[in-house]
Amino acid sequence: MSPGRTDETAISIVADGAIAPKSGISVVVIGAGFGGLTAAIECHRQGHTAIIYESFPSLKILGDIISFGPNGGRIFHRWADGEITKKMREVSIDLSEYGFKIHKYDTGEVVSHQKSPPKDETSPALNGHRGELHQIVFDYALSLGIEIKLGKRAKAYFEDDDKAGVEFEDGEKVTADMVIGSDGVRSIARTLVLGYEDKPKSSGYAIFRAWFSNKDMIADPRTAEFCANGDTFNGWIGPDVHFLFSTIKNGTDCCWVMTHRDDHDIQESWSFPGKMEDVLKVLEGWDPICIAIVEKTPNIVDWKLVYRDPLPTWVSTHGRIALLGDAAHPFLPTSAQGATQALEDGVTLAVMLKRAGKENVPAAVRSYQDIRYDRVKAVQKTGETTRDMWHKADWDKVKKDPKSIELPREDWIFKFDAERHAEEVYDEVVKKFL
Ligand SMILES: Cc1cc2nc3c(=O)[nH]c(=O)nc-3n(C[C@H](O)[C@H](O)[C@H](O)COP(=O)(O)OP(=O)(O)OC[C@H]3O[C@@H](n4cnc5c(N)ncnc54)[C@H](O)[C@@H]3O)c2cc1C
Repeated sequence: MSPGRTDETAISIVADGAIAPKSGISVVVIGAGFGGLTAAIECHRQGHTAIIYESFPSLKILGDIISFGPNGGRIFHRWADGEITKKMREVSIDLSEYGFKIHKYDTGEVVSHQKSPPKDETSPALNGHRGELHQIVFDYALSLGIEIKLGKRAKAYFEDDDKAGVEFEDGEKVTADMVIGSDGVRSIARTLVLGYEDKPKSSGYAIFRAWFSNKDMIADPRTAEFCANGDTFNGWIGPDVHFLFSTIKNGTDCCWVMTHRDDHDIQESWSFPGKMEDVLKVLEGWDPICIAIVEKTPNIVDWKLVYRDPLPTWVSTHGRIALLGDAAHPFLPTSAQGATQALEDGVTLAVMLKRAGKENVPAAVRSYQDIRYDRVKAVQKTGETTRDMWHKADWDKVKKDPKSIELPREDWIFKFDAERHAEEVYDEVVKKFL
């Protein structure tokens, strides 16, 4: 597809693999997580010039399992004519055969076997190792010629009516038409936008999580079945606890996450070493298979789940600095939408900038928030509803209606096309801000 060509539809979605005409808008992006990278890639697609600054001195394969819903897969699929989703699928779980088996925590019986939805190549769900998927997106941004400056920690943000800028710890200052603060849960940009420091609250839960090779699993006849026949996904649901176990890359990698009650102090950290004895304590009285899996785990991460009330705003006073992704709205993992909503943010913001043009950047940025705010809040809520549905399971009801315990797959979340939606509502929304 040649650059500049768009779909022949009433609204002008940029065609797969294409680029919109140059807008002359410059964007500084802080943070090269999925949110920042996607924002920069989408800015490039929509004709703007984006440059990314990231505090990490080098890219490392960090984290463990991360999920993108079909609404995220739809965004990735528009990059490089589907080449990026092809690469991502190669390292993602394939549950087309296995589906999702949901067990009662103590007896281990399978109370529901949820089939996988039919595959849709244009909007695949992608679940895999965060670091591996991140590397693919990072490399794609570089291949587009997007500059990513590593080892640059933002320490202050500033703006006036005409421009916005960032000062880094090394003293360098940069300016642009706008700045995207996609600097994650510990965002500094958030403090500038709000005018105060917004402290997180404990959610009352934490997650133990792990990723490891299948070597010991294969050697034990009780656990070999999870690794010997391709990818698998099993969940054990108990009172106030759930344990999700997957095998990935044809059963060679194993991963589990266990959400449990934890009222300890608030650590807004993705990585905190966990102790085996703490995990086994939570699993007392559980299906011995869960214990057999956990005992083969070399390293455990203890991730405290923090909560934030929705921020009053994601946009600075002059409308030239916008929060995006986790900096604006951290999610509970049970929504499985945190990263995908960061992608939708980037898509929406890039479309708004294209449609409003260089003369109207603040109106574009305010329209971005207007379009995203309520949807994000509603999706965030699903993290709580799914967790509560599992943690307060009524087993008699589940026996009669096994579907009542299945992982929700909601069309209003999954079938959403962020780019099309942004194009459709732009005229109506921007009027409020021009
Ligand atoms: C190292 C790491 C591991 C993670 N592991 C998992 C996981 O295993 N599973 C999961 O579901 N989610 C994980 N997450 C969270 C997940 O990636 C995000 O929830 C989601 O992708 C939204 O992305 P984001 O870009 O908004 O935020 P993030 O992914 O948090 O990205 C923010 C980026 O901003 C950078 N940054 C922060 N402050 C500054 C600053 N002052 N100046 C410059 N750069 C800055 C950070 O280094 C980071 O790269 C992890 C996040 C990180 C950073």
